[in-house]
Amino acid sequence: MAPVVIILLGPPGAGKGTQAKNLVDKYGIAHISTGDALRAARAAGTELGKQVAAIMDSGGLVSDELVLGIVRERLKQPDTAKGFILDGFPRTIAQAEGLDAILRQLDRKVTRIVDIQVADAVVRGRLTGRRSCGKCGAPYHLEFSPPKVDGVCDKCGSTAALVQRADDMAEKVDARLVAYHQVTELLAGYYKQGGLLAAIDGIGNMDDVFARVVKAIEG
Ligand SMILES: [Zn+2]
Repeated sequence: MAPVVIILLGPPGAGKGTQAKNLVDKYGIAHISTGDALRAARAAGTELGKQVAAIMDSGGLVSDELVLGIVRERLKQPDTAKGFILDGFPRTIAQAEGLDAILRQLDRKVTRIVDIQVADAVVRGRLTGRRSCGKCGAPYHLEFSPPKVDGVCDKCGSTAALVQRADDMAEKVDARLVAYHQVTELLAGYYKQGGLLAAIDGIGNMDDVFARVVKAIEG
């Protein structure tokens, strides 16, 4: 297969990480998460990494220009030879335009945008029910996988209250959903003429969803 450039979209809790890993294993391509790339550049202490560190430490937002610089550096790594998946990028029109410019220099282009769709109500149910043991961190879900004995951790026996991550609280989940829909609409508009966006049903077991992802990429 010719090198692929896949943009992976999906709401929180859609299993995007699992599907990205499956794609990496199947095609031998790189999984590029901008969060990871920013942290790696920072750790490596490159010129751009130092700029990222200064901005993150001051609590600021990393500019599109800086994100693009980091992505450009990352795409020069040899593990991208067979292609790559972009996860969490682009998120703005400026980033999409910048990405196109970088890809042109590399004689590549976006080949597919896969949007793993899960209804908002399902996402809310999956995320707002997540809990973990306050003592050992064992994961639970109030509806799908509660502790066997109410109020007692299966793993460590602690009777401490289960805790919820701030990110999984209803208002935060709703804000994350709004952000996801905004980015998806923006990219759908930007890449409209290429007909590159493939929406797939993200409900079902992970193998079935993966089969749909593969079909969207190869079909
Ligand atoms: Zn526990």
